[in-house]
Amino acid sequence: MSGAHEPVAVVTGANRGIGLEVVRQLAERGFTAVLGSRDAVKGEAAAVSLAEAGLSVVTHQLDVADSKSVTAFAQWLTAEYGRCDVLVNNAAILYDTWQRPASADLDVVRQALETNTLGAWRTAQALVPLLRRSPHPRVVNVSSGGGSLAGMGAGTPAYSVSKAALNATTRLLAADLKRDRILVNAVCPGWVATDMGGAGGRPVSEGARSVLWAVELPDKGPTGGFYRDGRPLDW
Ligand code: NDP
Repeated sequence: MSGAHEPVAVVTGANRGIGLEVVRQLAERGFTAVLGSRDAVKGEAAAVSLAEAGLSVVTHQLDVADSKSVTAFAQWLTAEYGRCDVLVNNAAILYDTWQRPASADLDVVRQALETNTLGAWRTAQALVPLLRRSPHPRVVNVSSGGGSLAGMGAGTPAYSVSKAALNATTRLLAADLKRDRILVNAVCPGWVATDMGGAGGRPVSEGARSVLWAVELPDKGPTGGFYRDGRPLDW
């Protein structure tokens, strides 16, 4: 076991986009940041890019849609660090654009639920025993305004339903894990210029800052909420 004295933060889907920037900001704040990547080679390349900027991060294979991968990751984290202080469920797919709910491909809906909802849920389940060992445990589910029931209908039914379900999961986990002092919140990073967001959105630094807000909540901070830039969003 490495016996890290620094708090340990895990970020899923962190080899690019907002996840990679969240890892960078966590490492800058002194966390032992674990960069989860479903493709180990891409994870290594991303970690090298941060090392070149003088930051030390750890990477490990993690496919949130594969329960064996999640279990192996949790076993590795337990053996290596024996703790987890922060889990950022960032990994997601968006495979449907300009689809109508009445004709949406339900296999695409199933894939979105498997990664965006169940992926976050199963990763949280696997890491709860390690989060319980933390003095200040936090789970941040990276959601989307597209999952808000108030604003739904943007032409991405699979993605929107998976994020609405992620929001529901957030509330359930938050209520369940209150007794363990684990704060669980859903956060929208805003429209961010990434492979998923496309051009024109705000920089990843701002999207990641929205996520870091929920990581840095005080112990008596909110749990079971939905936020963007620290401000509550409608469910
Ligand atoms: P990207 O598409 O740029 O990155 C998605 C990341 O998730 C990639 O690293 C991808 O890995 C990974 N991933 C996908 N499936 C899995 C899986 N099964 N297991 C592990 N990792 C996986 O997206 P963004 O950075 O833009 O989005 C990050 C988060 O922010 C998502 O939850 C998204 O829904 C949310 N969001 C983004 C917005 C935006 O405008 N960009 C707006 C609102 C919310 P790989 O490289 O292997 O494909």
